[in-house]
Amino acid sequence: MSKPRQQQMQMQRIKHDELVRMAVEIFVAAGSDAKEAECIAQHLVEANLAGHDSHGVVRINRYLGWLRAGQVVPNRHAEILVDRGASLLIDGGFGYGQVIGAEAMDLLAARTAAHGFAVTALRNSGHLGRIGAWAEHLAKAGYVSVHFVNSSGLGILVAPHGGSDRRLSANPIAAGAPVAGGPPLILDMATSVIAEGKIALARNKKEQLPAGYILDGAGRPTTDPETFYAEPRGAILPFGGHKGSGLSVFCEILAGSLTGGFSSHPGNPTAKRLVNNMLSLAFDPAAFAGTGFLHADIERLIAWTKASPPIEPGGSVLLPGEIEQRVRQDRLANGIPIDPETWAQIRAAAAAIGVTVPHHPGAAS
Ligand code: NAD
Repeated sequence: MSKPRQQQMQMQRIKHDELVRMAVEIFVAAGSDAKEAECIAQHLVEANLAGHDSHGVVRINRYLGWLRAGQVVPNRHAEILVDRGASLLIDGGFGYGQVIGAEAMDLLAARTAAHGFAVTALRNSGHLGRIGAWAEHLAKAGYVSVHFVNSSGLGILVAPHGGSDRRLSANPIAAGAPVAGGPPLILDMATSVIAEGKIALARNKKEQLPAGYILDGAGRPTTDPETFYAEPRGAILPFGGHKGSGLSVFCEILAGSLTGGFSSHPGNPTAKRLVNNMLSLAFDPAAFAGTGFLHADIERLIAWTKASPPIEPGGSVLLPGEIEQRVRQDRLANGIPIDPETWAQIRAAAAAIGVTVPHHPGAAS
């Protein structure tokens, strides 16, 4: 992202385990039990490690705001509403998505082991964070999976193709596949051209967005993240024009209409809270062409795809999830860069519940 308005920002790297400790302390002070606080903290920091800062610790103050407003309820657990063996309808009770998502994925893995294929329809979960984490969860168990997510109510941010205001959610899709002897392939993408959290981060860092990402409140193209948040609110464009817009509509149907969590529509009963709904399908390769075949064929696919001559000198072909793995290696070794504005927001949110977070390491005083 370009930086025409960038002020003197001192990005400092902070060790991931320090961030986890800080986040655990904050969520315990906010009323979560120790296990829940650890689960939320680990998920957020894992998103930072993967390079998705929009879904990392920058979310802490937003989560605390939702907590104060009663939009997320601490210490809730996934509840099975309908059990048909290979399919489960699960209600999240508006609990933290990190806990509800992990419990739903444990249930999905168990049912996949039993039936070879299983599906969970999760509704009324708090923010599920980085959706790739759920595909990783299943890939660790050896399963191939695909996940469709929508946000009812508060998550309405995206203009449909040809439209000029907010009608749809950012509606991510994730998919995962295990790779023998290596990290899994993980596709994890919003169906909007950019995730909303990245607009918030650009605003914090005083950066402009690339052209073609957002519209202002009058439906005009803009690069200024401030105009997106000003009244009347702007909108994010879908990725890939009509194709991304169509995928987004099907995220609404699969994650919202099929689960009972509702599609993005201001008339739905959860319109005032940030709710994620997720339809997840998991496949045990042993029930299909076999685990050995899957691993060998993925290996062939990886080798063939990556052998494409780079279009730019010195470039390389990356597979889904590879960039996140690279960023993870760097950030595990060297820390996670956090800008002073994001840090100040976390500090203020923590202070409001009696937790002292030190000044940003890059701050003047
Ligand atoms: P992105 O555009 O950074 O990455 C999308 C995918 O492209 C990833 O699988 C990545 O591995 C791959 N990729 C990136 N660069 C590549 C390259 N050069 N070559 C090949 N592949 C490449 O992701 P995004 O769409 O900005 O989404 C960011 C995060 O936001 C995701 O983790 C997503 O789950 C999350 N999100 C969550 C919600 C929610 O409601 N919970 C909503 C929207 C987005």
